[in-house]
Amino acid sequence: MVLVSGQEHQGKILVVDDDPLTQTVIRGMLEHESFTVVEAAGGEMALTLFREQPFDLVLLDVLMPEMDGFTTCARLRETPAGRMAPIVMITGLDDESSIRSAYGAGATDFITKPLNAFILVHRVRYILRATAAMRELAWRVDFQRVLIETLPVPFIVEDTKGHCLMANPAFATLQGEDAAGVADEPHAESRSRVPQPSSVDGTSIGAEGQRIYEAEILLAGKEPRSMIIHQAMFTPPVTGETGVISVLIDITERKKNEENRRLAETVFQNAADAIMVTSATGIIKSINPAFSTITGYGREEVMGLTPRLLRSGRQDNQFYAAFWASLRQYGKWSGELWQRRKNGEVYPVWETVAAVRSPEGRIIEYVSFFNDITARKQAEQEIFYRANYDPLTGLPNRSLFHERLEQALKQARRYDRRVALMFADLDRFKQVNDTLGHSFGDQLLGQAALRLEACVRDTDTVARQGGDEFVVVLPNVIEERDAGVVAEKIISRLREPFDLSGNIVHIGVSIGIALYPDHGDNSEDLVRHADLAMYQAKLAGRNTYRLYESAMADELNRQLMLETDLRTALQKNELELYFQPILKVEDKSLVRAEALLRWFHPRRGPVAPGEFIPLAEETGLIRDIGLWVFERACQTLEKWHELGLMIPLAINLTSAQVFRGLSLEVVSSLLERYHLAPESLVFEIAEGVLLADSAQARQWLKSIRQLGICLDLDDFGTGYSSLSCLKRFPIDRVKIDLSFVRDMVLDLDDRALVEAILALSRSLRLEVVAEGVETQEQFDLLRALGCGYAQGYYFSHPVSADAFVEVARALAAR
Ligand code: C2E
Ligand code: MG
Ligand code: MG
Repeated sequence: MVLVSGQEHQGKILVVDDDPLTQTVIRGMLEHESFTVVEAAGGEMALTLFREQPFDLVLLDVLMPEMDGFTTCARLRETPAGRMAPIVMITGLDDESSIRSAYGAGATDFITKPLNAFILVHRVRYILRATAAMRELAWRVDFQRVLIETLPVPFIVEDTKGHCLMANPAFATLQGEDAAGVADEPHAESRSRVPQPSSVDGTSIGAEGQRIYEAEILLAGKEPRSMIIHQAMFTPPVTGETGVISVLIDITERKKNEENRRLAETVFQNAADAIMVTSATGIIKSINPAFSTITGYGREEVMGLTPRLLRSGRQDNQFYAAFWASLRQYGKWSGELWQRRKNGEVYPVWETVAAVRSPEGRIIEYVSFFNDITARKQAEQEIFYRANYDPLTGLPNRSLFHERLEQALKQARRYDRRVALMFADLDRFKQVNDTLGHSFGDQLLGQAALRLEACVRDTDTVARQGGDEFVVVLPNVIEERDAGVVAEKIISRLREPFDLSGNIVHIGVSIGIALYPDHGDNSEDLVRHADLAMYQAKLAGRNTYRLYESAMADELNRQLMLETDLRTALQKNELELYFQPILKVEDKSLVRAEALLRWFHPRRGPVAPGEFIPLAEETGLIRDIGLWVFERACQTLEKWHELGLMIPLAINLTSAQVFRGLSLEVVSSLLERYHLAPESLVFEIAEGVLLADSAQARQWLKSIRQLGICLDLDDFGTGYSSLSCLKRFPIDRVKIDLSFVRDMVLDLDDRALVEAILALSRSLRLEVVAEGVETQEQFDLLRALGCGYAQGYYFSHPVSADAFVEVARALAAR
């Protein structure tokens, strides 16, 4: 039976008693004081009610028949609601053991019978108040615990000596300890765990018992962290001991951000690169000073405009399409482009544009960095030029030539074309260099390069291979003849005289041609074969061209072997001088002899001087050979004199000997050694010596002439020296080249030339010798034209020294 009476007022109280009278009494007392009362007649009923509804307090009788109060109390405590509810036992037994049993069963308090209404009500009120206070306290404690544990701001409470009284997990974490670690172990050294203010700006906790300062926390192995520390003194009323509570606010990130911002701003302001920030729609939002320096536009002039302002118009739509595609796909674009300055100047830049995205991935800005790369590009060009062009002639150098050749071959393979490769080597360049000096040699190369270039089309390549060697690549020729036409054009252009600061010189060129695919299918073979062909052109007498033939390789080998053999020819006594008479036309009397060198090769037999003299010149062997010739000529003359043959002897000198080797001292000392007068010698010099009209050459010739040695100009007409230039040299005679003599009988041009030479020589008072007279007819014609002297097979072949004595006797006897 449950009886509920009165309104809910002060609290709801469950009264458990088996005695209805006591129930009525208690209810009366409590309801009078506005408590709500629920009655239970026994323990079981109390338990049932308890499970159904909450109660603020339980009044529980001890002596009950069904279940006594102690047992009921213990069981009530086992229910969820019963754990916290205050339970007051009402007992008539106030002995010690009953009281102990009551508390042992979990009772909050007890009241002894007989009941006094005043005491009951006050006791109930007091217990309810105490319970409420306890609950409040428990809540507060719990709240604080949660607060302390979850508050992310580290704080610590220390006593004035620095012992830690309490710290929250955030503080422990800050210190690198686990959450429990800080508070449990009071700091052994009594030193505060809170970093102290630096002495400079250190403030002490003032009268207000508070201070705020900034300090750094330094922990081993960790980055220092900047903290703002709020400290307050407090004195807990219980202990009376003063403590300090420190709340630490980590401002490391904030400071870092600030620093980063400052740094970014400094970079922005001082960067050498122009920086431009635009909105997602392309409106310029900010620029740095370098932007103004490079573009010429100030801040106010560009704000609110778009970067189109800088467009040069040199990039096409395709460029911008690729630009935007890269920005969309990678969020970035880098490359070279042309911009236009405010003053209209167009200049190259290297630019990087990056998209700036919001955390959600939306593009919010674009940042562009660019710098003017004009200087860099110029330097690159300069480097490229230096690496690929010959500084002297401005032509592509060997490396670029190879690149072009490879390119031409690649195209030729693809389109089934023919490529011609020409090696062009200047003839007599060395003489110009030796006689006039290098600066004139350089001038000559420069002019030769221009002429070469003028001979070919724009698509052809003329390159300088080094020295006086040039290469020409004709990437598209139809047939062999086409290359020949170009070669002839080059030969005739280079045959024209060169004016080197007033010095007129004549050179020539020897050209070798190799064709792709006829003479090789790779650049290496073609180069080798063109070189071989060029070598053959040189051997063929220069100023000509040769197409590669497979036999040329054999010929080259022959040349190489000949060169090796020539080196030892002197020691092995394989050289000998032969002699040919020179006669006076008028009476066919012997006036002189010419010494002609012979090489009797042990395996090849006689090798003509025309073949080995150029080889000797090239290898430098001409110096020793020349001296040997000179000495052998002197010996022969001495011998002839002893035999009564008193004629002068002419010896041949090449320009190499004139300029290097045959010094005046050598000449004099040899004449002396063989007891010879200088008048008994004649030097036949090649036209080349005069070609390079140098002071050195003139000086040498003059001193030789002064010594008393006559000078004859050999092979006249084959070179380019004009008769008028002879005036400047101390020449005694000219020898008309045998090619004119041979043809003059039939060829009227040659005949006219011989006549002209004779006429001019007469006016210059020069004697003339006709070389290569082979027939009576030629002789008669020469005599008719008034030529003074003649030489040739018609009179005698060149013969040995001993044989010559006989030839001389026979001539004298006629
Ligand atoms: P060169 O000084 O013009 O000599 C004349 C050449 O014509 C010689 O050729 C001679 O054998 C040849 N010859 C003479 N009469 C006739 C003829 O009636 N018909 C034909 N077809 N040829 C005739 P060689 O001996 O072969 O010499 C060729 C060149 O070699 C010489 O031309 C000369 O420039 C050079 N040479 C010869 N010996 C020496 C030398 O000791 N030193 C130097 N530096 N050069 C030499
Ligand atoms: Mg001669
Ligand atoms: Mg000659």
